[in-house]
Amino acid sequence: MQTRNETPEIGFQDLGLNERTLKALKQAKFESPSPIQAAFLPHALKGRDCTGQARTGTGKTAAFVIPILEQIDLEDSKTQALVLAPTRELSEQVAEEAKRLAYTSTCRTACLVGGRPIRKQIDDLKKGVQVAIGTPGRVIDLINRRMLDLRNLKIVVLDEADRMLDIGFRPDIEKILRRCPKERQTLLLSATMPPPVERLAKRYMQDPTRVDLSEDGVMVDSVEQFYVTVDADRKFGLLTRLLRAERPQQALVFTRTKRGADTLYRRFAGRLPHVAHLHGDLPQPKRDSTMKKFRAGKIRLLIATDVVGRGIDVSGISHIVNYDIPEYCDDYVHRVGRTGRLSSDDRGRAFTFVTREQGNELTNIEIRINSQLTEYRVDDYEAFRPAPAPKHVEPKKKPEIPEFSFAS
Ligand code: ADP
Ligand code: MG
Repeated sequence: MQTRNETPEIGFQDLGLNERTLKALKQAKFESPSPIQAAFLPHALKGRDCTGQARTGTGKTAAFVIPILEQIDLEDSKTQALVLAPTRELSEQVAEEAKRLAYTSTCRTACLVGGRPIRKQIDDLKKGVQVAIGTPGRVIDLINRRMLDLRNLKIVVLDEADRMLDIGFRPDIEKILRRCPKERQTLLLSATMPPPVERLAKRYMQDPTRVDLSEDGVMVDSVEQFYVTVDADRKFGLLTRLLRAERPQQALVFTRTKRGADTLYRRFAGRLPHVAHLHGDLPQPKRDSTMKKFRAGKIRLLIATDVVGRGIDVSGISHIVNYDIPEYCDDYVHRVGRTGRLSSDDRGRAFTFVTREQGNELTNIEIRINSQLTEYRVDDYEAFRPAPAPKHVEPKKKPEIPEFSFAS
């Protein structure tokens, strides 16, 4: 069964939701369902297994949180729903949204992620957690300690399903799913779902309904997308000029590697205020405080790797810069989805730095998103080394950062 490009004019009140949920939605200022919610909820609320695909920022969280809240038996303190997400930050965002939409109910949720004291999580579980949200590693840890019992689950969700089912996480996911009752509802949500992942997903689901809105103009409406050709050693200069020309509200800059993020960060540190970096090797308290400041708009430029950048939901992000072109096309979709969010009327702008050797990679992205990026030129900047190569090597000097300010 497949649902595609439906634009049903339905409101939350048409979905047969209980009063509590309707009230919470109103409180959260969700006036009407987003397209993915409108297409996904009618199937998910019937208890069917479903996969849902729609670009980032379109409200996939509520699309699975609402069915969870509708199914929980509040009288029963056992764990009835489990949501798995690839990172701590994403798990915490889901937990926040779940709390927001459950605010009128007594539903008990817990966020089970590494890098947080396990003691508190165990205490919560002992008191009874109806909705468990977390990362696979910590969830397995808690299962092994016999603190988390999945035998009474009614519903399992894999958020960012493509990532959850890729080779890194798959063994953990399988381990967890083996602990879950066969008779359960399984929901998979993602911005992208490559066909091999989709085939694999079927193993965990029963006759799933497929709701795919991912072709809906793959972000082209909400994000203006550019590429800039540049030599690798001129990227930093280009970035600083780009920032000066664009004056972003908030910018998220992606590098391919943690080390790349460190290096870029060090080049800014102490020379431009409101800059931070975020990757999986940084200590959790540091990651938390950075995300908090970024959300509050105190950090204006955040340098991040794909894994932690995924799913960051900050409405002020006006600019995405792919300082390194993403390794996988799907990562492009995820990265660029960080801007042009549902809540913001402004169109975001995304820039991808491409070296002369990376033309093919750019083409692959263009095929993936079925649209061509526009070439962008920075007027006063020489993006290429002049040929022929200089004979003597210039003494190393930090390039100047041009005079610059963020949008007020
Ligand atoms: P996704 O998981 O698809 O990337 P999210 O679930 O993170 O998107 O949602 C993006 C933002 O949109 C969140 O801030 C969320 O609270 C908000 N949102 C979701 N659904 C609605 C809605 N129906 N009306 C208004 N805002 C919504
Ligand atoms: Mg999401």
